Amino acid sequence: MSSLLLADAAAAAGEVVKVHWAVQLAYMVAIIMFVMAIKRLSKVRTARGANLIASMAMLLAVVATLANGHLLQLAGARVEHAVVDWHWIVGGLVAGTLVGAIGARLVPMTQMPEMVALLNGSGGAASLLVALAVTFQATSHAAWAGAAPTLATFQAAVDATPTAGHSPIVGATVLLSILIGGITLTGSLIAYGKLSGKLSGNAVVYPGQHAINFLLGALTLGLAGYAVYGELAPGAALGMILGVVALALVLGVLLVIPIGGADMPVVISLLNSYSGVAAAMTGFILENNLLIIAGALVGASGLILTQIMCQAMNRSLASVLLGGFGMTTATGTGGGKDEYKNVKSTTPDELALMCDGVSSVIFVPGYGLAVSQAQHLCRELGEALEAKGATVRYAIHPVAGRMPGHMNVLLAEANVPYEQLVEMEQINSDFKQTDLVIVLGANDVVNPAAIDDPQSPLAGMPILNVHEARNVIVVKRSLSPGYAGVKNPLFELDNCRMLFDDAKGALQTTLQELKAAV
Ligand code: NDP
Repeated sequence: MSSLLLADAAAAAGEVVKVHWAVQLAYMVAIIMFVMAIKRLSKVRTARGANLIASMAMLLAVVATLANGHLLQLAGARVEHAVVDWHWIVGGLVAGTLVGAIGARLVPMTQMPEMVALLNGSGGAASLLVALAVTFQATSHAAWAGAAPTLATFQAAVDATPTAGHSPIVGATVLLSILIGGITLTGSLIAYGKLSGKLSGNAVVYPGQHAINFLLGALTLGLAGYAVYGELAPGAALGMILGVVALALVLGVLLVIPIGGADMPVVISLLNSYSGVAAAMTGFILENNLLIIAGALVGASGLILTQIMCQAMNRSLASVLLGGFGMTTATGTGGGKDEYKNVKSTTPDELALMCDGVSSVIFVPGYGLAVSQAQHLCRELGEALEAKGATVRYAIHPVAGRMPGHMNVLLAEANVPYEQLVEMEQINSDFKQTDLVIVLGANDVVNPAAIDDPQSPLAGMPILNVHEARNVIVVKRSLSPGYAGVKNPLFELDNCRMLFDDAKGALQTTLQELKAAV
């Protein structure tokens, strides 16, 4: 309390106080809300409310930041950081709200992963642009032009810019912001291209790839260091820093192109983490504690998610950071109907008949369920089976779909009871005792080649052991492969039948047959 009063007293005395105590308080509340939101995001049941808490916290943070200058003026302080022109702010808010609202309305659930990739990229771009703006201000500032050009001069010039902070590490964080922001921007654009199918999902590999990436990384860091430590005139330093920007953008591309096929979930979460670290660096530049903490939260939670995804894909984090894993995807056999023998097919009528006599059923949702938007019908069939006395559960593979948590979101949207959603580790041993497994648009996550075939691009990835169940029905439109582009031997097993149809159509007809039989 006393420090708050001191801050007010300092402000009243006309001293430079950068952040009004009320704004600090709002930041603290926002940070607590962010942490609460992250905690609640870890459970499907509380995740929706968590999103609301996080957006309210962000709104509070933005309003507090914008109000800071006015509050300080009211308190009689000398103001250095204040909004100078509301037109730009309001213009930005309106443009951002429009893009966000239209995007959220228009983008279908199936394209959410692409949207997440673009949002990660936007975070990187924002950090890059703030750092660049500060660089332009610093290199054109009199403090640089007049003094001997050294690290201290760069620091002094950055310090003297009206928007940047005064901490001794600001000079370094400007460059880190540029570096990480640039890598995040182009890396995310490549991830977007791969996820949307605009670029080939295959790993792009060439001899000496790691060495080239390492050398480029070293060159970028060297150039960044020289721009600050070297005895350079402002123009030359600015040129160097623009060189760092260009190299960071190239590095982003080179680090993501070698990652292919089924390994994209790791990249998405890693880029998410990068965007948080870039934001934290920008927080240091702007001396905004909230941005530092919020960025660090995103960076850390993104890294934890990366580790969870690594475990789900059975990859080491080191191999992710080096890039180049998933190379075998390029050699995947591709799957396709000519590669299959003895595939047995079935119909919705037969599935309805089977549903009559079963006591345990597990649904396995995958990307195709999201494509056909059949989640509501899936829940209806689950309810119909429960009404017939069967135990119904939904098996969730951590990388099913096209983004972490995709299936949880999809089924929660259809009001599937949370207690029926069971994670892979918990449900895998139960398949053996299960009468009927209905696989809806899933493929890679139920591919036994991951266990049996060491040459498979999926080798080592833990899968849902549906092949162990008494009966398996796979609903998909054809024998086409999944994201990893490989054959699935499950389709040839004796206990497996294929129901070749769109998931929505198949479920609709099955439900009709079930109702007609009552
Ligand atoms: P897959 O991509 O392996 O398979 C999806 C299947 O759905 C296809 O074989 C397709 O077959 C079928 N399908 C498509 N549309 C329909 C439809 N309308 N009705 C019925 N079926 C349909 O999906 P999984 O969920 O099993 O596996 C996810 C894959 O994506 C993994 O390889 C994972 O690594 C990768 N990935 C995951 C990310 C994540 O974060 N979760 C991110 C990026 C990639 P057909 O065309 O014959 O109908």
